[in-house]
Amino acid sequence: MKSHAKVVVIGGGVVGCSVLFHLARHGWTDVVLLERDELTSGSTWHAAGGMHTINGDPNVAKLQKYTISLYKEIEELSGQATGVHLTGGVLLAATEARLDWLRGVVAKGRYLGIDLEEISAKEAAELMPLLDPSQFVGAVRNREDGHLDPSGVTHAYAKAARKLGAEVERFTKVEDIVRRPDGLWRVITNKGEVVAEHVVNAGGLWAREVGRMVGLELPVLAMEHMYLITEDMPEVAAWNQKTGTEIIHAVDFDGELYLRQERGGMLMGTYEKANKPWSEFQTPWNFGHELLEPDIDRIAPSLEVGFRHFPAFQNTGIKQIINGPFTFAPDGNPLVGPVRGLPGFWVACGVMAGFSQGGGVGLALSNWMIEGDPGADIWAMDVSRYGDWATMAYTNAKVRENYSRRFSIRFPNEELPAGRPLKTTPVYDLLSAKGAQWGVSYGLEVPLWYAPEGVKDEFSWRRSSDFSHVAREVAAVRGRVGLAEISNFAKYKVTGEGAANWLDRLLACKLPTPGRMTLAPMLKDDGRLIGDFTLANLGDGEWFIAGSGIAEQYHMRWFEAHLPVDGSVRIEALGPKLTGLAIAGPEARELLAKVTRADVSNAAFPFMAIGKMDIGMAPCLVGRVSYTGDLGYEMWVAPEYQRAAFQVLMAAGEQFGIGLFGSRALNALRLEKNYGSWAREYRPIYGPLEAGLDRFVAYGKEADFIGKQAALAERKQGGRLRLRTFIVEADDADVIGDEPIWFDGAVRGWVTSGGYAHHSKKSVAIGYVPKEIADESDGFEIELLGKRHAARMQPVPLFDANFERMRA
Ligand SMILES: Cc1cc2nc3c(=O)[nH]c(=O)nc-3n(C[C@H](O)[C@H](O)[C@H](O)COP(=O)(O)OP(=O)(O)OC[C@H]3O[C@@H](n4cnc5c(N)ncnc54)[C@H](O)[C@@H]3O)c2cc1C
Repeated sequence: MKSHAKVVVIGGGVVGCSVLFHLARHGWTDVVLLERDELTSGSTWHAAGGMHTINGDPNVAKLQKYTISLYKEIEELSGQATGVHLTGGVLLAATEARLDWLRGVVAKGRYLGIDLEEISAKEAAELMPLLDPSQFVGAVRNREDGHLDPSGVTHAYAKAARKLGAEVERFTKVEDIVRRPDGLWRVITNKGEVVAEHVVNAGGLWAREVGRMVGLELPVLAMEHMYLITEDMPEVAAWNQKTGTEIIHAVDFDGELYLRQERGGMLMGTYEKANKPWSEFQTPWNFGHELLEPDIDRIAPSLEVGFRHFPAFQNTGIKQIINGPFTFAPDGNPLVGPVRGLPGFWVACGVMAGFSQGGGVGLALSNWMIEGDPGADIWAMDVSRYGDWATMAYTNAKVRENYSRRFSIRFPNEELPAGRPLKTTPVYDLLSAKGAQWGVSYGLEVPLWYAPEGVKDEFSWRRSSDFSHVAREVAAVRGRVGLAEISNFAKYKVTGEGAANWLDRLLACKLPTPGRMTLAPMLKDDGRLIGDFTLANLGDGEWFIAGSGIAEQYHMRWFEAHLPVDGSVRIEALGPKLTGLAIAGPEARELLAKVTRADVSNAAFPFMAIGKMDIGMAPCLVGRVSYTGDLGYEMWVAPEYQRAAFQVLMAAGEQFGIGLFGSRALNALRLEKNYGSWAREYRPIYGPLEAGLDRFVAYGKEADFIGKQAALAERKQGGRLRLRTFIVEADDADVIGDEPIWFDGAVRGWVTSGGYAHHSKKSVAIGYVPKEIADESDGFEIELLGKRHAARMQPVPLFDANFERMRA
C-alpha cells in the first residue's frame, strides 16, 4: 500500500468505487480506495439493482439520468459486465391525487429530457401483464427504468478506475483519521498509514463511524429493507415467450411497492409502514456479507395490497425473502460535499439509491474536489443542508418517517410531523395561541399562516382551506400593518480590522456606508451566484448580514473557506442567538413611532437605513427594508427580549388594526414585487445578469471581488437565460415550482416558484426562459396538473411598480 496519496476514498461500495472512477477519469490518478473487506461488503451486494430517472428534485433527477447513461461506458472501459437490463417501466396511480402528482413528474421530464408518457391503466396492463387495471386510475410509462447487477457495476467502476491509474486496497480497514498540523490527513489502517490531501468518506453502512473518527456526527441511519423473490411463474414465462421481452418494472406508489422480473419469477420490494431501523447507534464492524432475519409480518399489509394489485402473485410461492440494511439521510437524499470546518474531508454517503445516484454523486464530488465546484446544482444532496440540529434522535425520527412515506404523496401544503417541534423561538406559544400553523425551516418552527379555530390545512394540489385566510393576512399588510416572525433568516456578524476589505472581495456589491444596508449578491469564481444577502454596515467596523436560513451551514462553509489566515476577520452565524420580527404596511412607520423614542421619520430613517433602537424596553437592531415590498421594518432582537418586543408591537398595533402574517402571505406579497429567493430563483447555476441581480453588482468597483471577471464576461455576452415573472390564466391551482414553461408549442423554460398574489388577485409564476424569448410578452403557456395554461409576461411588479410605497 502506498504511504502517500492525493486522495483516499474510504469504502468499496458502489458509491466509493464511483467516486474513485470519476476522480481518475477527471485526471487525478494518485488516488487509492481502502475497503475493509471485499468490494461490495456493505449494503451494495444485496441490493435489488433497480434504477430509475425520476426524483422529487429535478437536479437530482438529472444526475440519475447521467448515472444510467454511464453504465455502458464503464462496461466498455473495464470489460466487466454490469448486467444492465433497460426494460422500461410503469409508474402506477391508484388515486386521482397520485395521477396529478405523476402528471407533474411527466411535465418536469419535458425540460429534463426524461422520456415520460401518461398512459391509461389499461395501456399499462398491456405493457405489464401482471397488474389488474381495475385497481388503478392511470399510469406513466418511463422508458429509462431498468435493473442491473450490483456487484458487476461496482467492480466495473473499480476496474475502470484501476485502468486509469487508481488503486484499490481490499481488506484494509481504516481505524482512525487524524489531521496533521500541516493540514494533511493521516489515514490509519490495520495495514499501516496513508497520508493524504483529501479523504472521502464513502463508508455507506459505516459512514457514521468513519465520520466519528474526525468528530463528525453525520445524520444517517440504516433501515432494514425487504424484498421477496417468487418461484417461477407461468404468467412470466408466457409473456417472455410471447413477446421475447422481460416483464417491465412497475412502481405501485399507492401500494408502496416496486416490482421487476427476476429470472423466471418476480421480485417485489416494499416500503412498509412498520419499518425498523438497524443498528441505531453503532454499526458493528463485523457485519459483512450477511442478511438480516426476514420478518414477513411486518410487510404483510404491503403484500396484501401487492397481491390484490398484481393477482398472479396469489398463485405463486415465495422462494426467498431478502432483508438487508441501507442508509438514509433525514430527507432521503444523499449527503455529498466538503464538510465545513474540515478542509480536505469530503462525504459521499446516505445514498439510498446507489444504482440510480452513485454515478451522479461520483461526478459531482470529483468535479468539486478537482475544479472547486460540483459543476451542477446539487443543493438537494449537499451535506451542508443540515446543521448541528440534525441530531441522532432527530435523524432517527425523520428517517423512519421518510422510509414509511417513500412512495407517499407530499402535497405542496403538507408539513411532515416527525422530529418536531425541535427549534422554537420565544414567541412560539404566543403565535400558536393566535392560530399559527407551523412549518419548518432548517429545524426551526416557522408560522405559515394563521387559522381560525377549527380550520386547518386540507392537503391538496389545488387552492385549499388556507386560501381566504392568507388573503386576509395579505390585506392587513397592504391595507394597514402586518407583523411577521422572521427568525428563520440566517444572520451573521462580521468584525475585525480586515472586515471591510474582506467583504469587498467576497461580495459583488458596493459596500454600504455606516448606518446603511444594500442587497449583496455573492458569486463563485465562475461568476454564478452562491448567495444573496442584505449587508448592513453598523459602523465602528461591525457588519451585519441577513440571508437565507436554510443555507446557513452552506454559506458558513463558503465564508470560512475564504477567511484570511491572519485572523483579521471574524464571522459568526448568530442562529438562534438573534430572533426577528418584521412589520410592514402603510401604517408601519406610525406603529414603529409609537413604540420607540428614536426618530423614524423618512428623513431621519430612510429606506435601507439601519440602526439600534429600543422597541418598548427591548433593545433591537432595526432595518428599514421589507421583503413584502411595502413600507416596512425588520427588527433583530436577542431571544430574551423577543416576547417583550412582540407584545409591545401587538398592543400598539391594535389601533391600526394590526394583523399577523405568515410565510405563505409573505410569498404572495413578494410575488407581486418580482422578488426572488435563495434556492428557488437564485441558485449556483445562474449568473447575476440571468437572475436579474446584476443591478446590485458593482462591476466597476476597485475590489477584485470573487467572480468579477466571469461576471463581466456574462454581462458582455449576455448569458443564456433570463428570470421572468408570468401571470398564469390558472383556475383552481397555482404553480409550486418546477413546472415547464412552453413557448410557441415547445418547452423552453421552467418555473422556479409562484403562487397566488392575493392583493393583485393574480396567479403568478416566476421562472427562467432563454434570453432569445425573454422579451416576448405573449405565446407562453405554463403546464399545471397536466394542462397547459396561457401565461403572460409581467415585466414590471404587479404592485407598486415605481417602488413608492417602500420608499415613502
Ligand atoms: C435489500 C436492499 C435492496 C436495495 N435495492 C436497491 C435498488 O433496487 N436500487 C438501488 O439503487 N439501491 C438499492 N439499495 C440501496 C443500495 O444498496 C445502496 O444505495 C448502496 O449500496 C449504497 O452504497 P454505498 O457505497 O454508499 O455503501 P455500502 O454498500 O454500505 O458500502 C460501504 C463500504 O465501505 C466499507 N467501509 C466502511 N467503513 C470502512 C472503513 N473504516 N475502512 C474501510 N472500508 C470501510 C464497507 O466495508 C463497505 O464495503 C438496496 C438496499 C437494500 C439493503
